[in-house]
Amino acid sequence: MNPDLVVIGGGLAGSEAAWQAAQRGLRVSLHEMRPNRPTGAHATDRLAELVCSNSLGSNLPDRASGVLKTELRSMGSFLLACAEETAVPAGGALAVDREAFAELVTARVEGHPRIELVRSEVERLPAGPAIVASGPLTAPALAAELQQWLGGPHLYFYDALAPIVEYESVDLAIAFRASRYGRGEVLDGDYLNCPLTRAEYDNFVAELVKAERIALREFEADIASGVRAGPDKFFESCLPVEIIAERGLESLAYGPMRAVGLRDPHTGRRPYAVVQLRQDNLAGSLYNLVGFQTNLTFSEQQRVLRLIPGLGQARFARYGMLHRNTFINSPRTLLPTLQAQQRADIFFAGQITGVEGYMGNVATGLLAGINAARLLAGEELLTLPATTMLGALCWYVTHADPDNFQPMKANFGLLPALERAANGRDGGKRERFGAYAARSADDLSAYLAAAKFEAVDDGGGSHRATVALLHAAAPAAVRAPGF
Ligand SMILES: Cc1cc2nc3c(=O)[nH]c(=O)nc-3n(C[C@H](O)[C@H](O)[C@H](O)COP(=O)(O)OP(=O)(O)OC[C@H]3O[C@@H](n4cnc5c(N)ncnc54)[C@H](O)[C@@H]3O)c2cc1C
Repeated sequence: MNPDLVVIGGGLAGSEAAWQAAQRGLRVSLHEMRPNRPTGAHATDRLAELVCSNSLGSNLPDRASGVLKTELRSMGSFLLACAEETAVPAGGALAVDREAFAELVTARVEGHPRIELVRSEVERLPAGPAIVASGPLTAPALAAELQQWLGGPHLYFYDALAPIVEYESVDLAIAFRASRYGRGEVLDGDYLNCPLTRAEYDNFVAELVKAERIALREFEADIASGVRAGPDKFFESCLPVEIIAERGLESLAYGPMRAVGLRDPHTGRRPYAVVQLRQDNLAGSLYNLVGFQTNLTFSEQQRVLRLIPGLGQARFARYGMLHRNTFINSPRTLLPTLQAQQRADIFFAGQITGVEGYMGNVATGLLAGINAARLLAGEELLTLPATTMLGALCWYVTHADPDNFQPMKANFGLLPALERAANGRDGGKRERFGAYAARSADDLSAYLAAAKFEAVDDGGGSHRATVALLHAAAPAAVRAPGF
């Protein structure tokens, strides 16, 4: 095939971008280097593989990630449709069976008549139109090419994965099923909660802080060769649990181990702290430790995490670990349309732009795919309003302080302040979040109508029709999640 557009990377952003462009009539060549060249974090050759958590964030319409999902739905996101088809129960969040999700994305992309999936590593920027969506683990040759082409340094730092345990190995005489404040989709609760008393918590934190960690040798060569990096640099939203614990004895009790909204049915009391486990696959055989990213050695993970009541005999399906994160200095190199400043036909999408989080990666893929198609059709490119979550993310990464640029995920702090109500009152948090969501919906639909934007088929139509039929027939308690 002689492609109109090359997409580099078949991850979250690249798969979405390829679909959007192909659905608009472009012949797309999607290059994915796996399985020929592994990344160190991906475990399969599937497209859109989720490398860590299986949660795509909140699905509630008045949460930042929920607002982003509403915008993506209205713009016809392909990956969001696939996620909704493969959702597992997760309270107010959208979580998926990672294997079913990646399988579905791969099957639909491979079956698309205008997408050619090429299993090869791209080392040089293509001469024609392209979308670079090679992710946080961009292969070294392309990273070097980008560094040279963009001028100025790449930025590196480290992020961490949470462990996964087998459901069968969790002691249900101790762990209890519940969602905070009784919210959730499964009647008896979406999470398994491991309760800790004050004494158990103190002992756990003490052991965690002194446990042995994996040395960062693998990364030291990068540092020595001039890459800006440091073992103290992490995503604030994805800090290793031992690093949080070092910040003070109570940090975990107020962070990932907070027990608010939970009561232990075995004691009738609120525990001092909890470790929450979230379902990780549709079969319900695997659970991940929510917020428990870690860089302890595997033997220390076994020893220390088994101190958690309910996990005394835990079997680990995957251990936590640290990984590399690569992203470009977007404020110096990108436009809010996601075009490179120095070449209008090169777009960037996904984590490599500094937009953080699965849904943000999908969203930038969607915008890059749409804009690439509009560019080739001679149409005006979309620059979404800054009052929308996607518009605000694109604005942020292209206008942040370039000297201190760090990745950013969807949050209400990115949006312009709301106009004050006539009575001068700001209203409560819930009210404000609802107002942000309503303004985003209004501004997005007005903008898209003016831009003559039409969403393409997201591929999930037949599924939605089936689910609608099931909904009509089924009692509320057994309805499928995500709808
Ligand atoms: C280990 C890890 C854990 C993470 N955990 C989370 C999490 O829990 N929650 C969250 O919201 N975000 C998480 N992130 C951040 C980010 O959301 C994910 O990495 C997400 O998958 C990024 O999407 P992407 O499309 O930008 O990149 P990816 O999904 O990584 O896709 C990029 C693809 O490009 C391919 N590729 C790379 N270089 C080349 C090349 N030269 N030629 C051809 N193909 C190439 C790769 O094989 C890969 O398939 C994590 C990141 C990592 C690395």
